[in-house]
Formats: sequence, structure tokens, C-alpha cells
Amino acid sequence: MNKADIGLVGLAVMGQNLALNLQDHGYRVAVYNRTTARTEEFLAGPEADNTLVGCYSPADLAASLSRPRVILLMVKAGQAVDDTLELLHPYLDAGDIVIDGGNSHPDDTRRRVAALAERNLLFVGCGISGGEEGARRGPSLMPGGNALAWPHIRPILEAIAARVGDQPCCRWIGPDGAGHFVKMVHNGIEYGDLQLIGEAYQLLRFGLEMPADRLAALFDRWNHGPLNSYLIEITARILSVRDAEGLPLIDSILDTAGQKGTGRWTSVEALKLGTPLTAINEAVCARYLSARREERVMASNRLATDARPAGKADDHSIQAVHDALYAAKIISYAQGFMLLKDAAKAFDWDLDFEGIALIWRGGCIIRSVFLNDIAAAYRDDGGLENLLLAPFFTGQLRKTDTGWRQAVILGVKLGIPLPGLSSALAFFDGYRCSRLPANLLQAQRDYFGAHTYERTDRPRGMFFHTDWSSHN
Ligand code: NAP
Repeated sequence: MNKADIGLVGLAVMGQNLALNLQDHGYRVAVYNRTTARTEEFLAGPEADNTLVGCYSPADLAASLSRPRVILLMVKAGQAVDDTLELLHPYLDAGDIVIDGGNSHPDDTRRRVAALAERNLLFVGCGISGGEEGARRGPSLMPGGNALAWPHIRPILEAIAARVGDQPCCRWIGPDGAGHFVKMVHNGIEYGDLQLIGEAYQLLRFGLEMPADRLAALFDRWNHGPLNSYLIEITARILSVRDAEGLPLIDSILDTAGQKGTGRWTSVEALKLGTPLTAINEAVCARYLSARREERVMASNRLATDARPAGKADDHSIQAVHDALYAAKIISYAQGFMLLKDAAKAFDWDLDFEGIALIWRGGCIIRSVFLNDIAAAYRDDGGLENLLLAPFFTGQLRKTDTGWRQAVILGVKLGIPLPGLSSALAFFDGYRCSRLPANLLQAQRDYFGAHTYERTDRPRGMFFHTDWSSHN
């Protein structure tokens, strides 16, 4: 019997859909899952064809594969990946390739790339975005790790990836944990997008008292402009769905957000690298706050203030919310790319920012036309310091400035929380401020801790200390 082209370990929702995607592209796939029943169920499923090879032990899987072996792991991130690597190791030979397609932490991937290289195995950490549907029809793929594997796995990954025009949404990202780092930042940006859309919805729904039907039509309209994206599209659809009683389903969904942790990882990495990632940080914290529902409900009574009249849902105020959402989204992506830039510097990766924007345009959750503008900004200026300084985005921020401020003012006036929209505005104002109050901060640090300060009228690197108490 012909050997299989690729092995796939882990037949939960992502693994099954990727196996079928590979099958559709003419690859012979050997599949293995820790729990045998899951393998049997999958092979008996309606979409599995007889090219799939069912394997019931790691030895069986290794023996089914052509050399060098390529094995895609789709198991739960964390210890399960290490456990699976240990199980497979005795059956692998030098030059075999293991791809981890799960949402692994980039530090784990860095460690695994090095550990497997010592065993002459090529390890790749491949970020996969697009959820179940992406895995089945074409995800966005962000492979990184041992570059020796790339020529061998490239045709397979490019075949199953989403496409925009004739371009596959798959590029080699860089060494060690680079692929998983970029995937982590993608997920962080997704947190930011979801939070900003949620705030716009809340301002419109409760600040301007627009009913769900009207909002569905509005988001649908917005989806035909610069906000065009998968997430705006599904928001419009969600808002139009009614439940069995004929009421908008959205109004009966509990307001507590879940999370799997990749947004938090992004924030933690940004804090470690010193990147001001305020929009994503606020999105992570907003989910934490939402989860404290009982406490919020109690506080909504105890901390209630006089009701304020709602705003007026006219063209002007609706446009202000649109502009705030668009401007804050620009800030959030600019911050995400700042984090990528800081990581590239810290870890000595040569990240291709244009390429990253291009592969996020299809297959993945944050796909949008806006990513074309980001790619164009990096294409026009390879040394771009920050996306906000690209002429296109500078122009967009100038156009949206007034509306953005009006929307934030409206939220403040009505007591509607807008942590993402308002912190993005604060970041924007801070980023373009040539004189921040850190002069006072430095003086305070010098006062209580003799930490010294630099002076505006002396060269950088000259430090001064004042005996502040002698001046009082
Ligand atoms: P999952 O629920 O994260 O993991 C379940 C799979 O992992 C099952 O095949 C399970 O085998 C296996 N597994 C768990 N612990 C194991 C262990 N100690 N040893 C061996 N196998 C073990 O599955 P998923 O949702 O399909 O996700 C797979 C990966 O893709 C994860 O890293 C996830 O974060 C990532 N991802 C998921 C999505 C999504 O939309 N779901 C999107 C992008 C990326 P058993 O059947 O034996 O329990």
C-alpha cells in the first residue's frame, strides 16, 4: 500500500477539518488520536474517503508515512504537545518533521525547536487561524521554527491555506517561536476588534437607543465601507437573528465573556517587551470585568446615579461612532505591529510586516480589507517606524478625529464604558504629544529615590540629581 504523505495527530474539531482539507487537496493522510474511538468515528464519518489511513499507535503512524515523515500535531496546547512528542520520538528518524498547529505559547515552541534539533528532528510551530471553518476550507497559516523544514512542507501548507486572489495565506514567518508569536498577536488583535465592536454596539444600542434590527442594517452598511471585515459581517448577521419568541436573540445572551488565554498572553508579552499595547490590554481586562457579573449587577444598584437622557440616533452621532470604531481599530493594529516590531528586535527575527498583513487577509478571524491598507503601508515604506505615520493612516486619523472624540464624549456623558475606544484615543494623543508629564514623574523619582533625571537643555545620557529637600 502507498505510504501516506502526512500524519495528523489529534482528531478533535481542528484536526478532523484539517485532515479533510488535506484529503481534498489530494494528500494521503494517516490519522491518529489518543482515544481510539475518536479515530474510528472520524473514519466512519460522511466526508472521510478511503485514502485516509487510520492508525492506532504511534508506531503504526510512523510506519504509515513516507520519508522524511511529516506529522501535524493538532492536540491540546501545553503539556499534551510534549507528551505526544515523547510518544512519537522513538519511532522518528533524523530529518523527520513535526509541525505543531495548535495555539502553543511561543516560548514553548522556541524550547521545542531547540530540543528536537538536538535529536536531528525539524520542529515547526505553525499558527493556524480561522477556527473550524477555516481549517476545513482554508485557514491562514503562520509557520515558523526550523527553516530546514520549510521547502518540504511549503507545498502542503500552501495547498490547504486560504487564498486571496492567487496568493496563499501562508508564509514562512521566522525562526524558533516566530510563527506562534505572530499567531498570538493575531489573536490579541482579534480580542481588540471584538471589544471595539462591542463598545460601538453598546453605545448605539443603549446610548442612542437603537434597536437590534436597525443595528443589523447599520453594521451591514458599515461592512461595505472601510470597516469591511469578517467580524463586522458576522455582527450584522448576529444582530438580525430572532429567537423562538420572535425577539432579538442578542438581547437574551448573558453578558459574560469567555477566553482561552491568547489575548492575555499577548498582553503579558507586550508588558515584558515594553510595548504600550493599550487597546488589547483593555480588551482582556474588559472580559475579566464582564465575567464578574454578580458583582456588577449588585454594583449597578449600589453605585447607580441619576439616569441621563439618551443621545439622538441621527446621522451625525451614528457617523461619530463609526469614526471612533475605525480610528480605534487603526490604533489597535498599529499597537499590534509595534509589538511584532519589538519582538523582532528582541528575538532577532527578520519579520516581514507586509507579508504578515497579507496572510491575515484571508481564512482568519480578523480578515478585512483594512489589512490591504496595512500591507500597502509597509510595501511603500519598508522602514516604516509606525503604521500611524504612514500617509494613508495619518489621513484617516485626521478625518476621523472629530467623530472619535464626540463618540467618546457621548459615552462619558452617558456613563457607557468605552475602555477600548477611549484608551485608543488617549494613546493617540500620547503618541503625538511632544511633551508628556514624565518630566514631573522623573522629578518625583529623583525626589524620593535619587533616580536622577536628564535635562531638555543638555545632551541625552547626562544625568542630574537635585537635593530637593534643600529647596523647601
Ligand atoms: P482541543 O480541544 O484543544 O484538544 C483536543 C485534542 O487533543 C484531542 O484530539 C485530544 O485527544 C488531544 N489531547 C488532549 N490531551 C492529550 C494528551 N495528553 N495526549 C495526546 N492527545 C491529547 O482540540 P481543538 O479545538 O481541535 O484544537 C486543537 C489545537 O488547535 C489546540 O491547540 C487549539 O488551541 C488550536 N486551535 C483551535 C481552534 C478552534 O477554533 N478550536 C482554532 C485555532 C487553533 P483525545 O480525543 O484522546 O482526548
